[in-house]
Amino acid sequence: MNELSLKEEDDWTNSWWYRPWIRFVFGSITLVSVISYLAIESGIEAFFFIVLSVLIIVPLEKLIPRHNLKFFRPHLLTDFFHHFVSGFIGFIPLILIVPIIENYQSQTLASLIQSQPMWLQILEALFISEFLVYWGHRLSHQIPFLWRFHSVHHSVVHLDWLAGERRHPLDQFYMSLFIGVPMILSGFSLVDLLVIGVIQNLWDMTIHANLGWRLKSLDGIWVTSEFHHWHHSVNKEARDKNYSGALPLFDRMFGTFYLPDNKNPGPYGIDTHMPDTYFGHMIQPFLPVKPDSSGLTKS
Ligand SMILES: [Zn+2]
Ligand SMILES: [Zn+2]
Repeated sequence: MNELSLKEEDDWTNSWWYRPWIRFVFGSITLVSVISYLAIESGIEAFFFIVLSVLIIVPLEKLIPRHNLKFFRPHLLTDFFHHFVSGFIGFIPLILIVPIIENYQSQTLASLIQSQPMWLQILEALFISEFLVYWGHRLSHQIPFLWRFHSVHHSVVHLDWLAGERRHPLDQFYMSLFIGVPMILSGFSLVDLLVIGVIQNLWDMTIHANLGWRLKSLDGIWVTSEFHHWHHSVNKEARDKNYSGALPLFDRMFGTFYLPDNKNPGPYGIDTHMPDTYFGHMIQPFLPVKPDSSGLTKS
């Protein structure tokens, strides 16, 4: 029996995916991702994000713009401030709560998940977290109390590389707990969440950018800037559509996929009043809702 188990273990370690160079490559990718993530979420984020944007996204926006938009567009500084403050504090509740909820983690599932190769764990984590992103995001549109905070993100009328940074911290806390708690409880590690966080954060910057590329071959496979721009559109047919962050599969599955041919999303915004300042964004969700048609015409 022992010999058989040993033989099976030998066979397992001889699998193609267990070769030293594959382990080295995936180990290196994981290490770089974790270091990048820790850098991103520990205050160097601002620097990392700005360098990456200025080197890649901003030049692409100049080459293939979707809308005619100046680099120094209105309220750029407000969103810059959001980036510095909210980007840093968004994950704090999850990091604080992980040591507590880890005690309630399913040990059976945890050992099953964590015995798999890292790439498989990441794929599974991406799939499950995207399912949670979809429903967490959809509820923040459908439950009026949650919408008060999420509407801060939708109040941006000029979509560009910095627009996705406009978020109320309570909207961020809600989403990171909605995604993080079930994932930790079902056996994923904080490292899995961190790697997925890097992918989702970096992609989030691209899908808000003022990029006119259509990327038709990615339709239904991966979220593109056009897909997410429709999510921000004030167009009635596009309302409450395209909730996915990376995998549009869930919008297709639950009937909220919207990506028409030969139409341009925009203008963007909301139809209720939202101040233009950072402080205004912080307090507006706690104040009475006021209609404001100017949000629909500012673009
Ligand atoms: Zn939304
Ligand atoms: Zn957005």
